Amino acid sequence: MIRVFGARQVLISIVSALLIVGFLATSLGSYFVSRQSLRDAVVQTELPLTSDNIYSEIQKDLIQPILISSVMSADTFLRDWVLAGEREPEKIAHYLREIRTRYNAFASFFVSERTRNYYHADGILKRVHEAEPRDEWYFRVRKMTSPYEINVDPDLANQDAMTIFINFRVFDYEGRFIGATGIGLTVNAVRTLITDYQRRYGRTVYFVDGTGRIVLVGEGDSVPEHHISARGNLGALMPEWSKDQTRSLEYDYENRPRLLNVRFIPELDWFLLVEKDAEGDYTGIRQALYWNLLVCTLITALVLLATWLAINRYQKRLETMATTDQLTGLASRHAYEVLMDQALRDSRRSGQPLALVILDIDNFKSVNDRFGHVAGDRVLCGVGNAMRACLRSSDIICRWGGDEFIVALRNCDLHNAERLAETMRQTIAGAAFPYEGTPITVTVSLGVAVLQGEESAQDLVIRADAAMYRAKQEGRNRVRTDVRPEAA
Ligand code: GH3
Ligand code: MG
Repeated sequence: MIRVFGARQVLISIVSALLIVGFLATSLGSYFVSRQSLRDAVVQTELPLTSDNIYSEIQKDLIQPILISSVMSADTFLRDWVLAGEREPEKIAHYLREIRTRYNAFASFFVSERTRNYYHADGILKRVHEAEPRDEWYFRVRKMTSPYEINVDPDLANQDAMTIFINFRVFDYEGRFIGATGIGLTVNAVRTLITDYQRRYGRTVYFVDGTGRIVLVGEGDSVPEHHISARGNLGALMPEWSKDQTRSLEYDYENRPRLLNVRFIPELDWFLLVEKDAEGDYTGIRQALYWNLLVCTLITALVLLATWLAINRYQKRLETMATTDQLTGLASRHAYEVLMDQALRDSRRSGQPLALVILDIDNFKSVNDRFGHVAGDRVLCGVGNAMRACLRSSDIICRWGGDEFIVALRNCDLHNAERLAETMRQTIAGAAFPYEGTPITVTVSLGVAVLQGEESAQDLVIRADAAMYRAKQEGRNRVRTDVRPEAA
């Protein structure tokens, strides 16, 4: 039994291991594939698309200011006034004021190469100096070869508000450089755009300069930090950013995975970052995984239960087959040995007598010969049933083999055993076992012995068998008992 139990455990363990490994592999596999394809969709399509849109909006917003600045740089009034010696600054201030108002610009300016005066809508703001870091832009514009640049700087004339300046070079009629002019835009327009995108697409959009400083965020403060080093491991990833191509990154911030698109905006010399908190999407996939695992666990449990029940059923069937004689339904010889062993020990412990009866059908061969094997089988069953009818439920009755039966009688002495054997003999002799309308009658010979002292089960059988043999020899259809010589 222990070996069977062990084998069952092994089988159940193997089935569970296969199911668990199989389910885990498919569930986790599909989880990671979904996660990856979701990430790819966000990183390769969604974020770059938003970034493209923002970039083209920015470019569009810059076209008109560039045109205005270009017209300013070619304006004959401006150039004449400069060439005439920059007299009456009020005139140029008036001109700049007009431009600013008409085009709804944030600032308008002219810086003269000759006097280094910085004119704006209210007059002369200051003089530019090469040594002054804030005036660096002018000396860069002075030297550059392209007709204009876009520069983002704080505007001194407007309480240092972040301003996008379009700086155009101005030439006299002979092509000599005489100064720089243009207009400034607030970043508010861009900020409004960012806010709009954040709202519409649920993205976080912000601009970062080349040092990692966060220079522009949408309204509503979605990126409170001032430097990307404060955003999880984003700072560590900055060296990977490239001015030539957009980058997709994944980083963690406040324990949430974030997918990020980084694009360099050459006009502003800033990086545009479009970011998505992927936690929500990943949570959906994770929940699907948990459901999957739950279903898999249930299926595993059901399969194991079904396997367990099937094994038990087959095991019971096997046990029955091993312990029962299929023809008569009596105990098999194998079962008899186990039961007899137990009965022997009980008898030794309690001191109660244990009797054994061996029964053999007389001339059974001739029953087979005359009526056929099937009829013989019927007779065997009939004899078995007749014996059972004479016995108590505590008695052990077994088909010993062929036409031979054995009965172990607990708590039964020789006298009672002999009487019982005689009852069985008479019952069987008086019975007719019908086969296809023909009643078949048989007689039986029985040998009886009672367990003596330390005698083994085998010796007891030998003695009962010898008694039965004597019954045969003495004419059959009778009961004979065997008593050990010393006990006799
Ligand atoms: P005896 O009185 O000396 O016992 O004579 P017998 O003919 O009964 O001789 P024996 O006990 O040696 O023969 C047993 C016969 O029982 C032989 C065999 O063909 C038959 N037999 C054994 N098992 C079965 C069975 O399962 N079914 C049938 N029909 N016959 C069986
Ligand atoms: Mg026989």
